[in-house]
Amino acid sequence: MAAAVGRLYPGAQMDIGPATDEGFYYDFDLPHRLTPEDFPAIEAEMIRIVREDLPLERIEVSRDEAARLLAGQRYKLERLADIPAGETISLYRCGGFTDLCRGPHLARTGEIGAVKLVSVAGSYYRGDEKNPMLQRLYGMAAASQEALDALLERIEEAKRRDHRKVGRELDLYSISDTIGPGLALWHPRGARIRVAIEDFWRREHYRAGYEMVFSPHVGRAALWETSGHLGFYRESMYPAMTVTEDEGHAGAHAEQYFVKPMNCPFHIEIYKSRRWSYRDLPLRWAELGTVYRFEKEGVRHGLLRVRGFTQDDAHIFCTPGQIEEEIRRTLSFAMGVLRRFGFSEITAYLATRPEKSVGQPERWEQATVALEHALQAEGMAYTRDEGGGAFYGPKIDLKIRDALGRLWQLSTIQFDFNEPERFGMVYIGEDGREHQPYMVHRALLGSLERFFGILIEHYGGAFPLWLAPEQVRVLPLSDKQLEYARRVADALRRGDARVTVDEAADKLGAKIRRAQLDKIPYMLVVGGREAEAGVVAVRSREKGDQGAVPLADFVNQIRAETQA
Ligand code: ZN
Repeated sequence: MAAAVGRLYPGAQMDIGPATDEGFYYDFDLPHRLTPEDFPAIEAEMIRIVREDLPLERIEVSRDEAARLLAGQRYKLERLADIPAGETISLYRCGGFTDLCRGPHLARTGEIGAVKLVSVAGSYYRGDEKNPMLQRLYGMAAASQEALDALLERIEEAKRRDHRKVGRELDLYSISDTIGPGLALWHPRGARIRVAIEDFWRREHYRAGYEMVFSPHVGRAALWETSGHLGFYRESMYPAMTVTEDEGHAGAHAEQYFVKPMNCPFHIEIYKSRRWSYRDLPLRWAELGTVYRFEKEGVRHGLLRVRGFTQDDAHIFCTPGQIEEEIRRTLSFAMGVLRRFGFSEITAYLATRPEKSVGQPERWEQATVALEHALQAEGMAYTRDEGGGAFYGPKIDLKIRDALGRLWQLSTIQFDFNEPERFGMVYIGEDGREHQPYMVHRALLGSLERFFGILIEHYGGAFPLWLAPEQVRVLPLSDKQLEYARRVADALRRGDARVTVDEAADKLGAKIRRAQLDKIPYMLVVGGREAEAGVVAVRSREKGDQGAVPLADFVNQIRAETQA
C-alpha cells in the first residue's frame, strides 16, 4: 500500500505501517487529502504491484547507509535515529520502494491474493497533538479473494453480534451515566440469564465439594493494609470513605473504609475466625462476590471492562500434600463448566516465577509442578509463560475460542504465597505444630458481567434453551384463546420454564416475527382447535414447525431439554 501511495503521490512522506488484528495501516504525510474516492485508484495500483510479483528484499545496513537510502523521508530518518546504537538496522526493498522495517515479510508481492482499503483517518505523528497530523490509511489483505471475503464477513458478523448492540435490542442490560461509567444495570431479561448462570454455578460448586460464603462490600483500611492492597493496588481502588464511629461519645474517632476490589481478604478472615487442623483441610470456599475497581476512562468497553463486577471467586486452602489433587480437581472442574456454556476449544497458559517474587523457592517449585501435572492429567496442550506469573505465585490461565474464532481469557487458577504470610494463616499439622496453608485463588468465568458480554457475542443473542431469558412464548391466534394461552403459560411456569404470553392485538404473523427477533427458542401457537384439544402447536427456533403436542408432554420436553 505504501509503495502504491508512493507511486501515485510522488513526494509522499511516509511514517510507519504496522499490522493490526484485522489488517494493517500506514501513516502518510501527503499534500492531497485522501478520501474513500481515492481508494479504487490506490487499490488498482496495489493490484498492479501484486501482479508485478516483486521480491520483498531484506537488507541489513549501517546507520549511514540507511540514512542514505531513506534520504528525503524526514519521519523515517527520525525513526531511524530512535534505533539504539548497536542494534541491527534492516530495510525492506520492494521495487522502487524502500522501507525501514524489522520484518518479516512475504517473499514476493505475488503471494498476496486480494487487498482492500478500509478507511482513512487523521493521526498525529507519534500520537502527539503537538506534532503534524498525518493521514492513516487502513487496509486488509489475504491470500485469496475468498479468504478476504470471509475475513470481511467475520468483521461484519462481529459488529452484528456486538454485545452492546444486542444487549440493547434484547433489553438485557444498560449502563447509565446517571449512575456512573462502568456500572452495569441488569434488566429483567438479562437477570433471568444471570440467575440461570448463578443457579448452575452454585449447584456445580456444591457438587464439587465447595461451600458458599458471603462477605460485605466494604472493609476498614486496616484490612487492606494487612492484605497489601493499599500498598500495591491503591490506584485501582475507589477512594476511601471516612466514617465517624461512636459519634457524640467520648471514644468518637474517624475510620476509613474502602469498597472491596477483591474478595480474598474476607475469605481469609473467615479462615482466621477459628483454628484448623490438617484434618479439616482442604477448604474450598466460593462466592459470587461483587467488587469495584477504578478502571481508567479509556479502557472501558460495554460489559467487557467495567468498574463494578461480580467475580465467580473461590479460594482453596490446603496442605502441601493436597495441592496436586486440588489443582487437578480445579482444572477439570473449570473445563466442565466452560464446556457447559458451549466453549469446546480451550487453551491453557502456565505462568511461572517472575524475577521479583515472594515466597519460598521450594513452594514455587512444588506449586508449578502441581499446575503442570494437572495440565498433563487433563491431556491439555499448554504454553509456558516463563516468568509470567504474579509476584505472589504461579498460575494457569485458560482461554476459550468463541464462535467468531476470537480468544478470551476466562479462568484463572492462581497460587498465593503472599496473603497467607501477611495474614499469619496457620493450621495445625500432624506434628502438632503450626504450618502455613497453601492458598489458591480461582475464578472460572472471570466476572459475570464480562462473561455475559462474551456469551452474548458467542451466541449472537440466540441463547441455548437453558440460558434463554424467555424459553417459550405463547402466541394466541386471537383474544378468544387468551385464557387458554395463560393456562398454558401457567403450566409451563409450574414446570420451571421461563415463559410469556404475547397478548398484543397483532396478527399471528407479526407475533411470530417479533418472537424471531427476540430469538425465543420455542413459540407455541394456540388457536381454537389447540384450545379445544388441550394441545400446543410448537415452532422451534432451530427446527421450525414441530406440529401439535399435548401440553403436558411439552412441559416435560422443556424440562428435559433444559437439564440436558
Ligand atoms: Zn482471591
